[in-house]
Amino acid sequence: MTAPHLLVIEDDPDIAHLLQLDLQDAGYRVSHASGVMSGLIQIREDAPDLVLLDLGLPDGKGHDVLTRVRQHSDLPIIILTAQGDLTSKVELLGLGADDYLSKPFNHVELLARIAVQLKRFTSDVVRFGASEVSAVQRLVKYAGKVVPLSFLEFQIVQALLDKPGQLHSKETLFAEVWGEHIRRNDNLLAVHVANLRIKLRDAGGYGVIRTVRGFGYVIQVQRD
Ligand code: CA
Repeated sequence: MTAPHLLVIEDDPDIAHLLQLDLQDAGYRVSHASGVMSGLIQIREDAPDLVLLDLGLPDGKGHDVLTRVRQHSDLPIIILTAQGDLTSKVELLGLGADDYLSKPFNHVELLARIAVQLKRFTSDVVRFGASEVSAVQRLVKYAGKVVPLSFLEFQIVQALLDKPGQLHSKETLFAEVWGEHIRRNDNLLAVHVANLRIKLRDAGGYGVIRTVRGFGYVIQVQRD
């Protein structure tokens, strides 16, 4: 299993550098962003497993990162607050932070808190072959790379994974994704499955979803 990937969003180069060394020593894969925009881009493109977030950033506040991420994901975020920061802990938790530490923080405590958040978070990840699906993060990775899926495509993967290796009739799959009250449309389903296959194939995943002509679809699982 690959090492968890942590993203440090911090504009102070010394703190960022020390944190990176510390976390790498602890066995994590670490990347770094020094602002709100670059942080949000890295979260979207690299899908880290956890974010350490400073509040005072050159192009905005850490709060902006928190609010934006929480619109679509439960990605664990630990806030690093500077002394004299007026943001209350209650406010941070209200915005969706999972935890917070005041600077200067004790490194053993930081590692312990990271471990707690990662454990909570990774317990929902389903792995099959080279694919990983996280329901909390709502994303699919193939061979460690994020497969950019639309909302419906993700719903299809999730529905198929509910019974991996088993046939899902078009009827049940459609109802699970679009809802019982929507009139079944096999062409619409076929179009979304086709797009999903193209995206998986582009990421290197061939034959992940198989069609059983006339009946429905199966997601192939070879658990490793
Ligand atoms: Ca700062």
